[in-house]
Amino acid sequence: MDTADPTRPGVRAELRARPRHVASALALALLIAGLVVSSPGPRSAQAVGRLPSCDLGNVYTVPRGYDDWSVTLVDRLLRVEKDYVPPDLVHVGEAGLPGGGHIRAVAIDDTRAMARAARAAGAPIGVWSGYRSYEEQVQIFNGYARENGLDSAITYSQRPGHSEHQLGLGVDFMSAGGGNPLPGDWATTAAGRWMRDNSWKFGWVNSYPRGEGGARWNDRTCLRYEPWHYRYLGREVAAKVHRSGLTIREYLWRNHTLLDSSGRPIATPTPTPSATPSRSREASTTTMPTVTPSERGVPAAPSVEPTVASAPATVSQYDVDPLVLVAGLLGLAGALALVGRAWARRRAR
Ligand SMILES: [Zn+2]
Repeated sequence: MDTADPTRPGVRAELRARPRHVASALALALLIAGLVVSSPGPRSAQAVGRLPSCDLGNVYTVPRGYDDWSVTLVDRLLRVEKDYVPPDLVHVGEAGLPGGGHIRAVAIDDTRAMARAARAAGAPIGVWSGYRSYEEQVQIFNGYARENGLDSAITYSQRPGHSEHQLGLGVDFMSAGGGNPLPGDWATTAAGRWMRDNSWKFGWVNSYPRGEGGARWNDRTCLRYEPWHYRYLGREVAAKVHRSGLTIREYLWRNHTLLDSSGRPIATPTPTPSATPSRSREASTTTMPTVTPSERGVPAAPSVEPTVASAPATVSQYDVDPLVLVAGLLGLAGALALVGRAWARRRAR
């Protein structure tokens, strides 16, 4: 680089110095762009990527540690392992709720307070169904599939591994003293209405509200309307979900579910699924009926055995966003052109 000629007028010196500043700024920008391009894709990037479609998949959700209970998302795509069994299951009677079943102890105090408040409001609640193991969900889902066909079953029941009931935080409530909440619209009963309006204050949110225009199918939850099914999120997260106007699935996906830099969920392909189930008693209960995809576009028969979706499983930790790469290259070209022009001018003088 040349040095400023002290004999020239100050104004000229300042004008000549400008390209150097521009070049320096560009070099700095280039350096930053280079760092962005070469750095590994963020393993814990959040709020990127569109909410996945309702296609069936088998990706282990992240986070899913037992301590991450308030933000663990399961849906048609995301799941937990077969041996995911919450370590602190307690009977719902401990929350003063009639009915049967278990929930995680982390939910007991809020649930007890909710049960008391519902009773005081003249809308006492009970539990129809609480925690379900993977194996119990196999029985239930396969029963529905046998009865109504797979295409129908997957619109109202989650496959094993994908159920909030396995988290120990999903409960099908009922009216205390009442029976099965499924027939009719439970949200129109005293207990159902009270839950719809108040449960979030106690950490519980309805997982499967009605869809667009009051439809029974909901594209945002990928399940049919279930006014009785609630998920415990803890008061803090439940209040945020309530205020956001989003469904649990949308809120957790947007704010807590971990994605790679491409916006795909981080797949953790462990444990390795076995392609051929063993001939054990358990394996016989997990056999799925073979179903061909229907004209309605319902995906081919989902496998009850965990099979991690191949695309996310091959996600590289060093994925580079193509946009960042293009921006970096354009920046480099621009910087070189400007530096070249500055040199040419200087030499022409
Ligand atoms: Zn349920």
